[in-house]
Amino acid sequence: MNQPTAVCAEIDLGALASNVRLMQQIAGSDKQLIASIKANAYGHGVVPIAQALQDLKVDALATGSLKEAQLLRQHGIVLPILLFAFADSELTMRAVTEGFIPTLTHLQMAEAISGVVKNPTSVYLKIDAGLGRLGEPLDSARQWVEKIFQLPNLRIEGIYTHVPFADSKQRDWAAQRLQAFDQFVAELKNAGYQFSVTQAMASCCLLARLQDHCNAVCVGHALYGLSPFSSPGSVDVSQLRPVMKNLKSRIIHTSYHAEGSDIAVGGLYGLKRPRTIGVLPTGMAHGLCKPVEGKVMAVLIRGRKAKVLSVSLEHTTVDLDGMEGVSPGDPVTFLGYDGDEEITLSSIANAWGIQPLEALMRLSGRFPIRSMDATEESGRI
Ligand SMILES: *Cc1c(COP(=O)(O)O)cnc(C)c1O
Repeated sequence: MNQPTAVCAEIDLGALASNVRLMQQIAGSDKQLIASIKANAYGHGVVPIAQALQDLKVDALATGSLKEAQLLRQHGIVLPILLFAFADSELTMRAVTEGFIPTLTHLQMAEAISGVVKNPTSVYLKIDAGLGRLGEPLDSARQWVEKIFQLPNLRIEGIYTHVPFADSKQRDWAAQRLQAFDQFVAELKNAGYQFSVTQAMASCCLLARLQDHCNAVCVGHALYGLSPFSSPGSVDVSQLRPVMKNLKSRIIHTSYHAEGSDIAVGGLYGLKRPRTIGVLPTGMAHGLCKPVEGKVMAVLIRGRKAKVLSVSLEHTTVDLDGMEGVSPGDPVTFLGYDGDEEITLSSIANAWGIQPLEALMRLSGRFPIRSMDATEESGRI
């Protein structure tokens, strides 16, 4: 009997390496690369991705989750790990005692850390340069930074901001915000405040070829081959290579239904011709969803598209109409190539009526991850 095909997600570490190099090349050799691995590395599996990024010699990792940071240390990741801002002072304190670099977003948090630690402790400061989310707003940031510098036992290593934009029309807004942040940092430096890391640009800024005077960038989307733009306009994202290469399942059962049969699955009542139905052991519990009204979803079996008829909690059923001899154990591709046919992440997201990154979040952590290294033929099974 054939070895059953594993239900798994395959990540392409060759594509990851290529995207890292592309971002380093766009950023320029004078800028450090901080890799954003938040949200389970954007759904790609935080441990194998962080291990690969460490081998690729990125300068640091950044995540918003203390749990994720702890998991990485347990798996031998020695890179500095920056924690994006969390509101919770208690968690921030834990992060400090465990050797992670916290982001300070308000004075009380800085005072609390300063009051507890015995030795100089590395922290980053976050400035809100116009996004309107976390960090001290630029207008009041000068006094804020001065106050924090007066506190004992803080080693203020970095200062950063975040100016994401999803519509390339907002490029000018981002360019202005970067300039305002640059000017702010320049004024601080003139007044004698030193930072070893200054950082403002994420994927969107780099892909849109914006520039700044900071000495680091913090990139997520692009490393995974994901475009940060919902409307890319003139920004070219074609050089990015998808890291989520395949999602695989397998056939566990097939059944034949004669002409005229009433079968409920997919609403196939009163069949006009005989049909064969295939069942896969992956369903909503694995993050899969039914297509929204008016959309169709397909999977690949033996290099051909098979329509999804229904998605239930633990199973998906597909229409094997016109496919001869499909049997239990046969591999099924939800995402990626089988022969010359391909199902893209965008087409899945489109069927679900959401953005590609949202689709990855639904699937995140639900499939065992298998890493394909650069030497494996990528994308084909
Ligand atoms: C997520 C995040 C980034 C990375 O942004 P991408 O768009 O994924 O490149 C950078 N900085 C901060 C503060 C973030 O939260």
